Amino acid sequence: MATWDHSADLVIVGSGGGALVAALAAAEAGLRPLVVEKQPLVGGSTAMSGGVVWLPNNPVMRADGVADSHEAGLAYLADAVGDVGPASSPQRREAFLTAGSQMVSFLQREGVQLIRCPGYSDYYPNHQGGNAEGRSIEPVPFDARKLGEWHDKIMPGMARYIGLAVKTNEMRSLQYYNRAPKPFVIAGRAWLRTQVARLRGQELLTNGASLIAQVVAALLRRDVPIWTGAAFEELIMEDGRVAGVGLKQGGGRVLVEARRGVLLAAGGFGHNAEMRRKYSGEQPNEAQWSMANPGETGETLDAAIRLGAKTDLMDEAWWLPSPARVLGMNTLGQARQRPGAILVNAGGERFCNEANSYVEVGKAMYAHNAVPAWLIFDDANRRRYVHTGRRPGRLPQEWIDSGGVKKADTLADLARQIGVEAARLEATVERFNAGARRGVDPDFGRGQSAYNQCLGDPGYKPNAALGPLDRPPYYATEIFPADVGTCGGLLTNEHAQVINEGGDIIPGLYATGNITATVLGRTYLGAGASIANTMVFGYVAARHVAGQAAAQSGSQAEVA
Ligand SMILES: Cc1cc2nc3c(=O)[nH]c(=O)nc-3n(C[C@H](O)[C@H](O)[C@H](O)COP(=O)(O)OP(=O)(O)OC[C@H]3O[C@@H](n4cnc5c(N)ncnc54)[C@H](O)[C@@H]3O)c2cc1C
Repeated sequence: MATWDHSADLVIVGSGGGALVAALAAAEAGLRPLVVEKQPLVGGSTAMSGGVVWLPNNPVMRADGVADSHEAGLAYLADAVGDVGPASSPQRREAFLTAGSQMVSFLQREGVQLIRCPGYSDYYPNHQGGNAEGRSIEPVPFDARKLGEWHDKIMPGMARYIGLAVKTNEMRSLQYYNRAPKPFVIAGRAWLRTQVARLRGQELLTNGASLIAQVVAALLRRDVPIWTGAAFEELIMEDGRVAGVGLKQGGGRVLVEARRGVLLAAGGFGHNAEMRRKYSGEQPNEAQWSMANPGETGETLDAAIRLGAKTDLMDEAWWLPSPARVLGMNTLGQARQRPGAILVNAGGERFCNEANSYVEVGKAMYAHNAVPAWLIFDDANRRRYVHTGRRPGRLPQEWIDSGGVKKADTLADLARQIGVEAARLEATVERFNAGARRGVDPDFGRGQSAYNQCLGDPGYKPNAALGPLDRPPYYATEIFPADVGTCGGLLTNEHAQVINEGGDIIPGLYATGNITATVLGRTYLGAGASIANTMVFGYVAARHVAGQAAAQSGSQAEVA
């Protein structure tokens, strides 16, 4: 038997959305949770993210009177995800939707403020149950000073790099501030919010950082301990169940008893090159392309696998097609959704609807010999949009000089520079232009869905997501299948319990988030689906642990 240094009811590994929501739900249920995070800052990829949460028929939508239903959510999962096996079983889908709504109400009761992202369409609005008005919600801006000594312990979020306290649903408009009155007003509002916060001396967090900070605030109110610099190393079994964990903390080994269970919420293995090679087959997955938080290194997942846990979807990730990192901060990754730009493969051919979701385009890159793909755009595109910094039309000369962006007066010359057959590229652009001038894409239907429209240029006619490339010079840059985390991993049931190779649960072991095989299968359903996946099953795990504990103390009372 282990000699424990500490004891908690539920030990939670990681401090992303799933971990912290689980800790809050466990504390609310009267348990004593402990959060252990190996990095000095809390929040993981959840804090770095847009902080958007996608949940059908959620209470925030209902309060705003947006039409939706549980049945429509189930229909959407059935139609868009299809049959991908037990990770997205009917029971897990049911749990995701039912507990999802409950979780949002729970967070609101705990003081977490969430608002709708109006107009941020589901990614497959034309599928059965799809919702064009959108099911995404996000946190309101939050002043980090309210966290007291915790104010500087939150992983920096997206807005930090943009330099504006901008909400995620506003970011769509920010890039088009020069294109139409509405985005100009939205961008102005974000700028004003930032200035006012500065004058008031506030540290205004938005996006994922606000989401994490608001949940941390609720945890502090409930006195839940969060250990940083505490790295999980091993699961400890006693009497056939997971009884605790071994941690590395301050150079020493610390054993923590988990009286009711252990929840693994440590993210995937985006940055573990060896695991990515092992589980990706022939697919050229590169850990160096991952934008997940640096803690996503897979050792926790590996420990569960060594214990006999079953896995699925291990070759999957939340793909995010992106240009080479050396170009620095830019919007070229979003250029595929704007008029005057296309993606082509090594054969100089288009291979997908470029304006579709990042996960779908990433998968299409693998399927169509497009790793890397080439983003091709013309000078009209260059002039219209903000590619880097704040001014439209700016394409730094060093990008051209370094070869990071190729530039040519003719498509034939551009083709030569990128090693594509000139006639092929010219034919591709000619065919695309013929449709684009009429606002249609007969090959891939780009610009036809509400999702394509909501990310397109609101000032461009006849189609916000589609326009010809006909003004030289022309430009090309490589696009890689980067990701914001892997999303294959431990198979879990509808209670978030980890399943072993024999199909039984591993007693005492729960998991959520990117360390699991996701309920979304191989599809991304809407903005915030990944954070919903981790938060909901974290909530489910805590509720299940609390239910088991209550049942156990009930039967003990009967015996007494
Ligand atoms: C820039 C960016 C934008 C994104 N935008 C969105 C969005 O708007 N909506 C959306 O749904 N998704 C978004 N994503 C993806 C989403 O953030 C992640 O998929 C999700 O947050 C993963 O949650 P998680 O709980 O599994 O892990 P994380 O939030 O990554 O948390 C895992 C934590 O576990 C810790 N950990 C790892 N190993 C150990 C160990 N051995 N011991 C202790 N701790 C450990 C890590 O350090 C990390 O802090 C985005 C991601 C990025 C990077």
